[in-house]
Amino acid sequence: MGFNLLNIGKYALNVLLPRSCAHCGLDLHYLETAPLCPACAAGLEPLPELHCGICGLPLDDGGGACRDCRGGARRALDLARSAFVFNPQLRSLVHAFKYKARDDLAGFLAGEMAAVLARFPELAPYNFAVGVPLHPARRRERGFNQAELLAAGLAARANLFHLEGAAARTRNTPSQTTLTKTERKTNMAEAFRAVKPELIRGRNILLVDDVATTLATLDELASELKKAGAKSVAAYTLAREP
Ligand SMILES: [Zn+2]
Ligand SMILES: [Zn+2]
Repeated sequence: MGFNLLNIGKYALNVLLPRSCAHCGLDLHYLETAPLCPACAAGLEPLPELHCGICGLPLDDGGGACRDCRGGARRALDLARSAFVFNPQLRSLVHAFKYKARDDLAGFLAGEMAAVLARFPELAPYNFAVGVPLHPARRRERGFNQAELLAAGLAARANLFHLEGAAARTRNTPSQTTLTKTERKTNMAEAFRAVKPELIRGRNILLVDDVATTLATLDELASELKKAGAKSVAAYTLAREP
């Protein structure tokens, strides 16, 4: 590593504002660009090779599709994939990104998503990225929409078109985290609207979000975009909560 001006700058910045690992809190080396220390970064778990061919759910055994998808679950969402499994290291990153308003993490996380995207050639036809919209009241509270930042960063790195503001969240739905699967579906009903259908019509849309759990949110948005004329809708999220 050369003793150059940039490194001196990084060193000085680190003395003034020491950075720490988003997961374990260990001080980061001043040349470290990732928000995690090397040990925690190594703990990130890519989506396992064995996952549902439709919804991307990690599977314990073979079979091609998960039980829900084999049972013919009707979804507007055609495909879903994730870069990582939602494990403790990833939870810390997402928490820092969303709740400590570390929007500087967007570039790193979008870069990781872009690097993993090539693993999923089935997503190649989906070249119009749409971030899952936040309700304006939530967006004001947080200061940014994490999904929109990921969509913008991913689009720039993976040569996709970012359709900003193509859809909007029309209902400020309660948080999904305490709800059952069925309640989540009801909770999301009519939560979205395609505000710029001309951007959607006839296109293969890639929905981008941070964490996918039951796919209820993504499916509701996909259904709205299909009503607006989308040809096909897939989702690509940073993480999947099994
Ligand atoms: Zn760490
Ligand atoms: Zn499935």
